[in-house]
Amino acid sequence: MSNKAWLSQYPAEVPATYPYPDLTVPQLLIDAAERYPKATALDFMGKRMTYRAVLAAARRFANGLLGLGVSKGDRVALMLPNCPQMVISYYGTLMTGAIVVMTNPMYSKRELEHQLRDSGAAVLVTLDQLLPRVEQAAKTVPLNRIIVTSIGDYLPFPKNMLYRIKLRKEGVPAKLAENGRIIGFRRLLDEALEAPIEPRLDPATDLALLQYTGGTTGLAKGVMLTHRNLVANTIQCRLWFYKAQDGMERYLCVLPFFHVFGLTTLLHLGIYTAGTLILVPRFEIGQVVRTIRKKKPTIFPGAPTMYIAILNHAEGNRSKGKRGWLSSIRICISGAAPLPQQVQEKFEALSGGKLIEGYGLTEASPVTHVNNIWERRKNGSIGIPIPDTKARIVRPDTWEDAAPGEIGELAVRGPQVMQGYWGKPAETEKVLKDGWLLTGDMGTMDDDGFCYILDRRKDLILAGGYNVYPREVEDVLYEHPLIAEVAVAGVADPYRGETVKAFIVLREGAKLGGEELRFWCKDKLAAYKIPRLFEFREALPKTMAGKVLRRKLVEEEGERIPGP
Ligand code: AMP
Repeated sequence: MSNKAWLSQYPAEVPATYPYPDLTVPQLLIDAAERYPKATALDFMGKRMTYRAVLAAARRFANGLLGLGVSKGDRVALMLPNCPQMVISYYGTLMTGAIVVMTNPMYSKRELEHQLRDSGAAVLVTLDQLLPRVEQAAKTVPLNRIIVTSIGDYLPFPKNMLYRIKLRKEGVPAKLAENGRIIGFRRLLDEALEAPIEPRLDPATDLALLQYTGGTTGLAKGVMLTHRNLVANTIQCRLWFYKAQDGMERYLCVLPFFHVFGLTTLLHLGIYTAGTLILVPRFEIGQVVRTIRKKKPTIFPGAPTMYIAILNHAEGNRSKGKRGWLSSIRICISGAAPLPQQVQEKFEALSGGKLIEGYGLTEASPVTHVNNIWERRKNGSIGIPIPDTKARIVRPDTWEDAAPGEIGELAVRGPQVMQGYWGKPAETEKVLKDGWLLTGDMGTMDDDGFCYILDRRKDLILAGGYNVYPREVEDVLYEHPLIAEVAVAGVADPYRGETVKAFIVLREGAKLGGEELRFWCKDKLAAYKIPRLFEFREALPKTMAGKVLRRKLVEEEGERIPGP
């Protein structure tokens, strides 16, 4: 779709192309702190930090890293949940010209080892609770320093006290034994200067981030993103969200910053608009509901499973959950997985705000598509390309354009597209050609440029010679009033190659069997798409970014089948 076509979808206030300024990522923070020094940048369980304070701490962290010998191009791994230390160390690391490697705090020793070895990270920043796992992994990789912090460090008294007591009960020493290799985060900051650092960086070519992806199938690959990629995507999101008011918005940060969706829509966009980031370290429904009631966020990017959990909570607490408590939220951006239409409608009715579906992938920093907020949108679609982004539907193996209406693979192009996979030119070549990125997602595009994603190419189920896209089956099951959550996957079958299986979580107190569900699907799906197998579960396995782990369900299924 051309920029001209794109323009016709957006109002005149939004330019069709944008001259991206020569900004590095930390300049987003520096600019916000210059414009709004006293505004609250972070709100973490009652403790607030102004923009001026966050910038000062990030500069100290940067100087501390320089003192440890870190320099431009070095890799620094951050293994932290959403907390002030994450924000400080992220911006501080980038100020030195070093490259951030985001590390999921849930990683096993093996996953961590792979990521540290592959990226060659020299320094890692983590929580005291995670130190035993980190030390295990660090035995086999060349990691020079580990900077350790405690979540409680940034909590006001008495929450800090309670936290420390809890840690001690869990057998984690509240006071760290620092040595040459292990350094306390607070000490690093206390002993460092606050002076600004200005490394020579070219935003267009210097890397800011190695973001690992694809870990559920084979070993994860490091996506190389430059400062320009990340700043461009932030500005592109800002153009889409052109009515946001600088210095006024309050972002509910439950999506983890270590996932690129949370990174761009919260840690970058939130700071770029000088908003308040309300930090929630982990999605726990009670905590999220309390935070919404108390902190009154205006913007809440999330994964569909998060909106589903809130809806289920509201429906289970009708008396307490009467209208109003969600009403501060004006805009929700759903991404990472398909948004069921029922969920979109119910959530909008409950909150009175907008729940908009968008789409992206790590390789594109991540956002490439979104529906309009105030103008046109099409339910069930991921929307149109964001400013300066082009999209095509191609035949996967030949890269030829698919015919109108034909299912093909979505390819995208724009300033947010990655430089390639770290140390893997052959893998890069498979997905990047002439600036176009092959997304791995199958879908279609309509005459207005709206895209519809069917599923990941690799999640396609081949049942008895027929193609089944799990999402289509999930959509039908989601319409059932007694179903809270569902995931559909292909599991091994001796006769059909694969067979369609549905993993179902029922609403509280509901009773339902496979036969009834098969009947439900009967007039809605072709016979070969109707699941042959149903499994009822208490919950579905998810990533911390709220994505259902279909692969894990399939692996568990495989483990249950006795070997030959
Ligand atoms: P990640 O690289 O972890 O951000 O995952 C990117 C993948 O998430 C995409 O390639 C899609 O398969 C999936 N995804 C993201 N947004 C959507 C959406 N709105 N609908 C369907 N799938 C999505």
